[in-house]
Amino acid sequence: DVALSVPDKQVESVCPFCGVGCQLTYNVKDNKIMYVEGRDGPANEKRLCVKGRYGFDYVHHPQRLTKPLIRREDAPKSGDFLMDPDNVMEIFREASWEEALEMAGGGLRKIRDEHGKKALAGFGSAKGSNEEAYLFQKLVRTGFGCNNVDHCTRLCHASSVVALLEGIGSGAVSNPVMDVAKAEVVILIGANPIVNHPVAASWIKNATKAGTKLIVMDPRRTDIARYAHRVLQFKPDMDVPLLNAMMNVIVTEGLVDKDFIASRTSGYEEIEKNVAEYTPEKMAPICGIDAETIRYVARLYATSKASMILWGMGISQHVHGTDNARCLIALSLMTGQIGKPGSGLHPLRGQNNVQGASDAGLIPMVYPDYQSVADAEIRSKFAKAWNVPEDSLDPNPGLTVVEIMHAIDRGEIRGMYVEGENPAMSDPDANHARHSLASLDLLVVQDIFLTETAYLADVILPASAFPEKDGTFTNTDRLVQMGRAAIDTPGEARQDLWIIQDIANKLGCGWDYKHVSEVFDEMRKTMPSIAGITWDRLEREHAVVYPCEKEGDPGDPVVFVDDFPTKTGRARFVPADIIPAAEQPDGEYPMVLITGRQLEHWHTGSMTRRASMLDALEPDPTAQIHPLDMAEMGIAPGDLVTIESRRGKVAMWARADEGTPRGAVFVAFAYYEAAINTLTNAALDPAAKIPEFKYCAVRVTPGGTE
Ligand code: SF4
Repeated sequence: DVALSVPDKQVESVCPFCGVGCQLTYNVKDNKIMYVEGRDGPANEKRLCVKGRYGFDYVHHPQRLTKPLIRREDAPKSGDFLMDPDNVMEIFREASWEEALEMAGGGLRKIRDEHGKKALAGFGSAKGSNEEAYLFQKLVRTGFGCNNVDHCTRLCHASSVVALLEGIGSGAVSNPVMDVAKAEVVILIGANPIVNHPVAASWIKNATKAGTKLIVMDPRRTDIARYAHRVLQFKPDMDVPLLNAMMNVIVTEGLVDKDFIASRTSGYEEIEKNVAEYTPEKMAPICGIDAETIRYVARLYATSKASMILWGMGISQHVHGTDNARCLIALSLMTGQIGKPGSGLHPLRGQNNVQGASDAGLIPMVYPDYQSVADAEIRSKFAKAWNVPEDSLDPNPGLTVVEIMHAIDRGEIRGMYVEGENPAMSDPDANHARHSLASLDLLVVQDIFLTETAYLADVILPASAFPEKDGTFTNTDRLVQMGRAAIDTPGEARQDLWIIQDIANKLGCGWDYKHVSEVFDEMRKTMPSIAGITWDRLEREHAVVYPCEKEGDPGDPVVFVDDFPTKTGRARFVPADIIPAAEQPDGEYPMVLITGRQLEHWHTGSMTRRASMLDALEPDPTAQIHPLDMAEMGIAPGDLVTIESRRGKVAMWARADEGTPRGAVFVAFAYYEAAINTLTNAALDPAAKIPEFKYCAVRVTPGGTE
């Protein structure tokens, strides 16, 4: 009886799921997690959502990988697979670590030496620690010898980061989520925090009860709308016309903060000129929000004492994702709504360490702390820190996630190392991604389960689950937090950090890290933002916010108070115009597909589908459709429906949802048996190379095959 069991150990750590970064305690007995409790962390104050509280038993699942596996020579390798975790031994054979590491690291080395450094690429993980992310990118840059390293930030907030770096010189948030309590007005756009950041949503709900006016803007009417002062359910894809119309109101009604614009920004004239044409009257029929409502929320946002904007993937996952974020930044700059408590910009980060993995350099254009690979001075600095010849570091930015798949098709990339990512499920046009991965000469996958990607691997390295390792993790608020090992890895599975080191050494790197804190200390030396954070302090305090440049600094939860971290100290306005989605509905494919997440499952489902409580709550894939559309199509709730795009076809159960806009269907991407990303469009935002997960053309028909 779990409730009556007395744990023999309590370990203080952090939730492995979303970017809120709730602190928790693992209660362990006989190397088994019995239950989880919330701790009094800065982001959660003892709260946990259903995933954090009940989603832990995936670590004990019988499908955990416990031995290295090597693909049998006669086993087929095809993108047209039907994965079956129970037939694993027909496809793979068990191997010793020695054999597997030689095949993995030695194989990657052979490809590098025979086909050149750019014939290799690596995907690191936002589910791993900062130290793992740092070592992984260092391995690609010094072991492979190229910058072909990326991770799931490319699929979530890459466009926000591009716009933020370009506009204000920093890719992270200006204020923590908790600051909503200090805001008079909060705009929440393209985000569904009750589902994706549940504890953060609880702070937003509390704030509204205390008087904060919440403006929810989203093509889907989600549960947070119940707490809103105004709900703007605009037409899918019409973010830029709506946001430009708000700026038009602010400019024409003289609501801009002239002093802030003059002293802290550049490029205002350009944006003023650009939004002149975007009058609320002209934009109303385009975005589906009446002119008076646009005026009302623009005035409210501009004139409040403190306004915050929080956003999610509804903003970022478009071919105009960078433009959407540029508009949000411009709104805050023209009104001076940044750099004060309760006043700022907060892109809600997705995975528990996507902020940290990005900071640590799992990005093809930048080294740790967003330092450009193209800058000779910076390259020289990293060459010294990493003890490698300066000319061995590639001066050219590497390829991004989707670009890497196309480079495989062209025969340019022949070997990949994938640590803890699942591109066979998470990439857009996933059938294409699966075929690309299957065609590699060598695919090395390091994971805790036989994921859809691992199914295509030549070598599989069994790794550690979150509660099995020590390391630091950075949440959406820029809090660097200590995660601690609570249980041992099963069987012969090993800590990710040491697997990465072993592969690096097979490539000739000559590393000899003995403790995770040594990696963190090296990170501090190359990353000014965390230079002042010591391992001892993290052990003591559990969490320290950056920027923290000198030891003893308290860290700054609210930044940009006096200036922006740009060369001039000023922020920059960047105007945006309407760019339509890459694929529009038509007679053949008349509906819009919107993909996203759901409360009970996490991303591609590799962990939460194996968490018994969560899978019992949401066991099957569903298509959320407006009830009026369902009636027109002759579909009842619970019926099987088939969704088809130009790229693929899946069947699932229909669920009536009045919040889904007419003419659209919403599907979560966590279900391998109805992998919705086999339908999505791989069209990319030109600046950030993020795919358009939030909009493509599909048709929905009754019936289908389970
Ligand atoms: Fe974990 Fe996020 Fe839920 Fe907190 S809100 S318990 S970090 S999934």
